[in-house]
Amino acid sequence: MSTAIGVVGVKLYTADGQRIVGVGYVDTTLRKLGVCEFPDNDQFSNLEALLVQIGPKECVLPGGETAGDMGKLRHIIQRGGIMITDRKKAEFTTKDIVQDLNRLLKSKKEEQVTSATLPELEKQSSVENANSTQSLVGLLNKCKTPQGQRLVNQWIKQPLTDKNRIEERLNLVEAFVVDTELRQCLQEELLRRFPDLNRLAKKFQRQVATLQDCYRMYQAINQLPNVVQALEKHEGAHQMLLLAVFVMPLNDLNSDFSKFQEMIETTLDMNKVENHEFLVKASFDPNLTELREKMNKLEESMQSLLKTAARELGLEAGKNIKLDSNSQLGHYFRITCREEKVLRNNAKYKILDTQKNGVKFTNSKLSSFNEDYIRSREEYEEAQEAIVKEIINIASGYVEPIQTMNDVIAQLDAVVSFAHVSNGAPVPYIRPVILEKGQGRIVLKGSRHPCIEVQDDIAFIPNDVNFEKGKQMFHIITGPNMGGKSTYIRQAGVIVLMAQIGCFVPCDSAEVTIVDCILARVGAGDSQLKGVSTFMAEMLETASILRTASENSLIIIDELGRGTSTYDGFGLAWAISEYIASKICAFCMFATHFHELTALANQVPTVNNLHVTALTTDEMLTMLYRVKKGVCDQSFGIHVAELAAFPKHVIESAKEKALELEEFQTIGKPEESEGEPAAKRRYREKEEGEKIIQEFLCKVKALPLRDMSEEDIRTKLKQLKAEVLAKNNGFVNEIVSRTKVTP
Ligand code: ADP
Repeated sequence: MSTAIGVVGVKLYTADGQRIVGVGYVDTTLRKLGVCEFPDNDQFSNLEALLVQIGPKECVLPGGETAGDMGKLRHIIQRGGIMITDRKKAEFTTKDIVQDLNRLLKSKKEEQVTSATLPELEKQSSVENANSTQSLVGLLNKCKTPQGQRLVNQWIKQPLTDKNRIEERLNLVEAFVVDTELRQCLQEELLRRFPDLNRLAKKFQRQVATLQDCYRMYQAINQLPNVVQALEKHEGAHQMLLLAVFVMPLNDLNSDFSKFQEMIETTLDMNKVENHEFLVKASFDPNLTELREKMNKLEESMQSLLKTAARELGLEAGKNIKLDSNSQLGHYFRITCREEKVLRNNAKYKILDTQKNGVKFTNSKLSSFNEDYIRSREEYEEAQEAIVKEIINIASGYVEPIQTMNDVIAQLDAVVSFAHVSNGAPVPYIRPVILEKGQGRIVLKGSRHPCIEVQDDIAFIPNDVNFEKGKQMFHIITGPNMGGKSTYIRQAGVIVLMAQIGCFVPCDSAEVTIVDCILARVGAGDSQLKGVSTFMAEMLETASILRTASENSLIIIDELGRGTSTYDGFGLAWAISEYIASKICAFCMFATHFHELTALANQVPTVNNLHVTALTTDEMLTMLYRVKKGVCDQSFGIHVAELAAFPKHVIESAKEKALELEEFQTIGKPEESEGEPAAKRRYREKEEGEKIIQEFLCKVKALPLRDMSEEDIRTKLKQLKAEVLAKNNGFVNEIVSRTKVTP
């Protein structure tokens, strides 16, 4: 229900050698018809960003074309999980577009629109991939109404780039952060009383609404004064803003609906609503009055049948035997299962249904009255049909105010949700200071990852993020696996996004320069297992980032070049980083396992090295998750060995060996060693060797040593060692051959 846009149509052509993409879509929830046209690059990154935002399920394309650009375009669409439907090419002509559009919009001759008068779409911004298990949507969406939930989803996909609008939203959020009583009153009480107004609006529009829908609207409108009253009590700094954004529109709505309320009160039988019966008042029509009297009489007769039955069965009417009704059976008697024995061998009474909540039964008199009653009720419904139709007809004139009410309540729900989350976080969020685009500062003090810090048994370690134009623009983050690199760079992206949707942020203090987009390439850490196709996708994504990014963008790259040979991977990572750092000059965070990349800092002054830290003691390796300046300590693998409680002399020998193999460390960038197959091999073997050792250590660590006998351990270690040797890696063999392990 939350994603309302079903279908988009996409068309492609070239003008002056440039790819132009045309997109049309219908948003049935907002009842908006969207058409747009934009130039795109060969990766169609603008189209991809647009598709992410509108989230369609199906895409209509001109049939037949699958080669070249059209093939790529299809690939992009499929990658988004969108179904492609081919239609005749002729259906994509633009010849009569204005005429067709006018026909769809049903405008009269004199008010025809030309495309120039159509409102423009907001500038599109890219969105970071949301991970479903720990998603920002899941975190920020604590809305109480479906319309609020839809709006938060939309806001997250469409961060703002206009400072005034961001500040206004932050002001609203602040008002509800400060005023706990108001926030709780709205969240826990008032907002949840509003139904899906959009859905109702659509039912009214299509004239398929029922009396029950009218009653739902009636109830919702009755809540408006309560909301207004609560909001009017607020006396904080943003009082006037609350007044303008919520109180005034809600008051207006309340008077817009006054006639509607009157109509419902005069026509709907409120006494029957309690029984979930939605009927027109009997007094409204003589015919109905007559039927109502008949039904009342029948009901009285059935009540006296209850008394008789109670007497016969030795029960007490209204206590342990009752007259009940439901929509399937109509009227029946009901007793608890405990009393069930009184009906045994009693031919007068017929059991209809036995369930936990009791036994339903009837007798011949009751069922005959019941039949009469049902018949009368049907007649009643028939007799009221014309009146109901008239009511629904009048109600459908209220579609527009219902939509407006939908929008105001959605916005209220969404900002209250942001305030609720900002206030309820393990450490409350703070209001970010927003700087205009181009100011070139992103300074986050004590920042946290909002989704990780809420996980159970996590004591989150805050870290700072510092970007400054011309000084520090590109951060390379290295350090041990599981040390917190991904978390750190993602949290920077998430916090900037949160600031730009007008939410408070998980920091001690935050200055955020508005970015035009956040571009992220974050992949599965073990992409080497998935092979070349992953690598290809990674490269395509990266290429599209490089084309889209401007000096005002924020780029987040988590591991690049893992899917190929170490050598190529490193070369690419280097080239891409250099390009971003010195040509694009965007804000960038790059987490990598290529230590050699840190040398880029010597070459480009705005590149800065950071590393995540870990503490090794005699028995323990403790990840500190603290991000520090500079390059990570490279002999880290040996610390891990210490941790795995390796015999001292093995460690010593490994250290010696590491020194001996120092040459491996000094192999620089690929181009320097081109044409040196031996060096190349050694470099590769070292990289692979380190991985083999890591794997081995992991396996050793995972052994349930406490439950194993000495003998078991010895056998197991022998087996693991044999596995390592079988890999026949030069680097590993060197170390092993110089070490005599005596268990
Ligand atoms: P890396 O990218 O270096 O392999 P991750 O960022 O994936 O490491 O972090 C691994 C795990 O460490 C996370 O799932 C999280 O549980 C924990 N972690 C990361 N950063 C922090 C932090 N700052 N404070 C506490 N725990 C953290």
